[in-house]
Amino acid sequence: MNKNDTIAAIATAPGVGGIAVVRLSGDEALPIALRHLAVDHLRPRHATYCRFDELDDVVATYFPCGYTGEPTVELSCHGSLFVQQALLQCLLDDGARLADPGEYTMRAFLNGRLDLSQAEAVADLVDAVTPAQHRLAVSQLRGGYASRLKELRQQLLDLTALLELELDFSQEDVEFADRTQLRRLLSTLRSHLSSLIGSFQLGNALKQGVPVAITGSPNVGKSTLLNALLQDDRAIVSSIPGTTRDTVEGMLNIGGITFRLIDTAGLRESSDEVELQGIERSKKAVAEATVVVDVRDASLDADPLSGTDHHDGKQHIRVLNKCDLMPSALSLDGRQCGDTRFVVLSAKTGMGVENLKQALVHSVDSRDADRVLLSNVRHRDALLRVDEALSHVSQGLDSDIPADLVAVDLRDALYHLGTITGDVTSDDLLHNIFSRFCIGK
Ligand code: GDP
Repeated sequence: MNKNDTIAAIATAPGVGGIAVVRLSGDEALPIALRHLAVDHLRPRHATYCRFDELDDVVATYFPCGYTGEPTVELSCHGSLFVQQALLQCLLDDGARLADPGEYTMRAFLNGRLDLSQAEAVADLVDAVTPAQHRLAVSQLRGGYASRLKELRQQLLDLTALLELELDFSQEDVEFADRTQLRRLLSTLRSHLSSLIGSFQLGNALKQGVPVAITGSPNVGKSTLLNALLQDDRAIVSSIPGTTRDTVEGMLNIGGITFRLIDTAGLRESSDEVELQGIERSKKAVAEATVVVDVRDASLDADPLSGTDHHDGKQHIRVLNKCDLMPSALSLDGRQCGDTRFVVLSAKTGMGVENLKQALVHSVDSRDADRVLLSNVRHRDALLRVDEALSHVSQGLDSDIPADLVAVDLRDALYHLGTITGDVTSDDLLHNIFSRFCIGK
């Protein structure tokens, strides 16, 4: 990517629309645009209605320092495919180059308008479908997340400064830095770090869909329940035990949160090879789930209240199904036992299914109280490396190894933190990140 030329692309979604926006960015943006517009100047940040060649009437807006941090001209034209393409072609024929995917945002980053984590949030914002995804992306773009990273960086710099004091005096064989203070700073830093890393499960769940495992013995009505929730025939419903041999997934949007429902094969002993594989997969689904919905057949379950304490950090909902056959079970509806919430319903008639949806939303909301959430896999990996480097620092301090060796690990930690914000970058890293963007963003 040449960083100095002027780029052009259609910024609106591909296809026909009421209007389309073609965006030009770079030093030549204004001169190129003016050669085609029937006006001799564009007032900065004002919309100008004028003719573009003989092609179309457009609204042109000039930003001396636009989104990219460069002179930018946005041309809103009629949204026909022909007009969009022809207008773009005129600009390309006149010296502009077609922008690469994400190149506008990359320029914004290179020109210091955004840090790297914010640039990535732009992609998430564009991709957001649900309010929860939108909230996450906005928080990453301008909210608590960036300032949390800044705090971590500042704490790391403070630590380094303390240690460097010691280095400066090492010739005189004085252990200058107060190692108790160093240790205290380090432990605060590591606890902040681990709470941020710990928020990844929920952050990622909100972004990708909260994983919900639906478990229970064969025939209790798991597939019927999944269908009732999804209201289609995604899972095969059958009354022969063990026929749901694989996990079946469905996405469900409730109250602005996406849930990824996974119907698991019955968790029971079996010698059938295929069924065993299914059981393996369902164990994995449970392990990865944020919420576990344990379905029981209310008409057969003699002891529905047993085993309600899990202490595994997951949210547990116990569904007593088939209440149409066992109305007395309804007395348990809404009850909280241990860490398990009870919902009594009939997947067949639909009665109570709405309560299950509410319980699902509740299980996530109660943990989402305006926390700063980590949702980006790349950032999670970088933070894990920061943590690893800091654990070396901590070991180094404990075993009284020389300050210059401890400093190496600290610098390592700073480096990995820098890859998140873009203080440390490489062309490969930038390419990886920005090639996932769409053209025109
Ligand atoms: P799974 O093996 O747990 O997935 O169970 P299925 O969804 O295949 O259901 C097993 C049988 O129970 C089927 O015959 C369903 O029609 C029946 N069933 C499921 N839910 C209910 C319900 O709420 N009430 C009644 N009466 N039958 C149900």
